[in-house]
Amino acid sequence: MSFFEVIDPRFRTYVMGNAPVKQIATGFDWVEGPVWFGDAGCLLFSDIPNNRILRWTPEGVTTFRQPSNYANGHTRDRQGRLVSCEHGTRRVTRTEWDGSVTVIADSYRGKRLNSPNDVIVASDGAIWFSDPHYGIMTDYEGFKSEQELPCHVYRVDPDGTIEAVITDMNCPNGLAFSPDESRLYVADTGRMFSSDSQHILAFDMAGGRPTEGRMFHAIAPGCADGIRVDSDGNLWSSAGDGVHCLSPQGDLMGRILVPETVSNICFGGRAKHHLFITATTSVYAVVLNRNGVQWP
Ligand code: MG
Repeated sequence: MSFFEVIDPRFRTYVMGNAPVKQIATGFDWVEGPVWFGDAGCLLFSDIPNNRILRWTPEGVTTFRQPSNYANGHTRDRQGRLVSCEHGTRRVTRTEWDGSVTVIADSYRGKRLNSPNDVIVASDGAIWFSDPHYGIMTDYEGFKSEQELPCHVYRVDPDGTIEAVITDMNCPNGLAFSPDESRLYVADTGRMFSSDSQHILAFDMAGGRPTEGRMFHAIAPGCADGIRVDSDGNLWSSAGDGVHCLSPQGDLMGRILVPETVSNICFGGRAKHHLFITATTSVYAVVLNRNGVQWP
């Protein structure tokens, strides 16, 4: 069987026919938020319903943090510290070098955030996160609670100022900047264009802020949850049937086929050429012939 579906011939140069899509860990309930720690040789990821952050190494999986406050998405800041979205405490946190936890954001204009979902850090050190309501809709991935704010995308300045920068989306979820940060991509898992698609918006940046968004691509079958960018500026997105590779113009170039619904992805490994894939109950990995540009 092939692990890949080539739609645009260019995609053939992005994957290697002899590199398998491997299940590297399984037995979870809903995994998200993979983040690579090359210095520690491990991948951290969230098993949200089981309220834990797990650590994968080639030797196996161990528990990194439990309870995790139903953590979802993670990244690292420019100092390499872990930055996490927590559903249960409705906040974004940073884990310091000594292991203590600092709250980066938990409210906006006096109202509690919903359930921060995905987070990225820009080159100026600002922390950007999405705040859909998934973690407070039920008790499955957090605590069922009243929604106090619309589902925005926020930017937290290094001085701590929090600003709602995208306020007109339905359920903003995955975030990624283009390699030169001239464009911000945001996946929306809330708005269905057809019965089984979800869309990704592109926002050109001006003065460090997003301008009006435009439709970039409709992911079908949908699970446009997590997105990452490679060194050619292509956007890789989670989907219901695997991972889709989109050109900077928004064309579908190819798919990595995964037997479970994919939630999030991240590049890692020695040259950021491994793609780690969290997918429902399992984590998969595949070596690509491209390199990720995400920080770190
Ligand atoms: Mg997400």
